Amino acid sequence: MEPLTTTLKRTALAGLFLLIATWPAPAQQAAEPQLFSQSAQAILERDFPSPDLSYLLLDSSGKVLAERWPAQVPVSPGSLVKPFLAIAYGEQHEGKFPTVRCRGSQDRCWLPRGHGNLELEEAIAQSCNAYFLELSAGLDRQRDAATFARYGLAAPPIAASAESLAGVGSAWKETPLAWARAYLQLVNEQQSPTQSRIVKGMLDSAERGTARAVDAALGRNAALAKTGTASCSHTPRGAADGFTVILYPAAQPRLLLLVRVHGVTGAASTRIAGAMLRSLGAGER
Ligand SMILES: [Zn+2]
Repeated sequence: MEPLTTTLKRTALAGLFLLIATWPAPAQQAAEPQLFSQSAQAILERDFPSPDLSYLLLDSSGKVLAERWPAQVPVSPGSLVKPFLAIAYGEQHEGKFPTVRCRGSQDRCWLPRGHGNLELEEAIAQSCNAYFLELSAGLDRQRDAATFARYGLAAPPIAASAESLAGVGSAWKETPLAWARAYLQLVNEQQSPTQSRIVKGMLDSAERGTARAVDAALGRNAALAKTGTASCSHTPRGAADGFTVILYPAAQPRLLLLVRVHGVTGAASTRIAGAMLRSLGAGER
């Protein structure tokens, strides 16, 4: 991990941070996106050359600004699916969410001692398996699929386990670009009650949850984020693949970064993702 983060110490291209700080300034909108895209791709290639890292950088319209993701085949990104499960659950339960008591290992949560009593926001922030396994049980899968389709997601096979809806199983696969654009749409809908609670959970995740490396890199309340830890899809097989999605800045995201880092947890991949945005000038004042 160190070689990637230490590359941060290199000096960013002069003036780039001004681009990201002001971009898109109305008068410059026409010319700068392409310039930014070329700069972003060059900086990320230079500072983050590790073959263990895959990434997509999108603008708020869903256009790809920079990418390195060998073979855009569908991937199962672990807990990155959880917000979309929550939306499907909300639609089938009049927007009402339960309080769930997570007892840890016995509830199949990744945190052995458990998270205690959780509401939706905190369950997103801590990526609690127990909470989302409870949401996933007993959903109408046809209605789920219709919800997911609105986000451009193919949805897991109807026969897939409920665990896959919660990101605990691995049957729910979408292309990286589909996941990224689904997150953009979710955040664009944050005036809706459920989506608003999910976005709050992503803000909390970046501040003090599983994605807290984001605020550490970019500053307090700088970004929205979600982590995921999935079974490794590479050969030779690693312990896990870590996923992180970051939307920056939090108040009105202009950039979405999705990363996958081979051989680490989601929380560890977050440090790389935060460093990447930092190298593009995010978080500077
Ligand atoms: Zn838990």
